Amino acid sequence: MKTGFTMGDADGVAAPVPEDRLRLTIPCRERLIHAGNVVEALEPVTLNPSGTHAHDDLSVPPSLRRGPTYPFWRVTLTGRVPLGLVLCFIQYGPDQHYGLRLDEEPPYPGEFPFDAVEWWRRGNWVPCPAPGCGAPLVWYEAGYAPGYRICARSPHHHAQLSPDGRSAQTVA
Ligand SMILES: [Zn+2]
Repeated sequence: MKTGFTMGDADGVAAPVPEDRLRLTIPCRERLIHAGNVVEALEPVTLNPSGTHAHDDLSVPPSLRRGPTYPFWRVTLTGRVPLGLVLCFIQYGPDQHYGLRLDEEPPYPGEFPFDAVEWWRRGNWVPCPAPGCGAPLVWYEAGYAPGYRICARSPHHHAQLSPDGRSAQTVA
């Protein structure tokens, strides 16, 4: 059984990067890596205690431009998508951004309600439902219903996202 695919697979489907700049919980990051995906650290952001960006706030002396530092990540889905990922929208100082956590983990500080994330965006983190597959799903709506997807791994199973974008079913 094939257990994963890599970028530049024989059929030329590139591995998706559903969001380019994400917060990740540690269990979430470990589960993504264990499932064969690429997780890269991006430039972290440091806030002042007042909540502004440390590097932007010139009214704050450099020695005081220190606050919580948040790491950000880029996830390339080259393997399987773990079950139970929740895409969140988070208020963070002056910014909002996306983050992933596991379903059983508590919300991030500043996390918006569930419906702040569009269903189709949430659906980018749903694994292919075909038995034994679990590959990422990619957009395939032309001429089909909203939420129609194929998985990124040959033979490219066809699937339909649920209306809330939290699950998918195979389409014969
Ligand atoms: Zn599949």
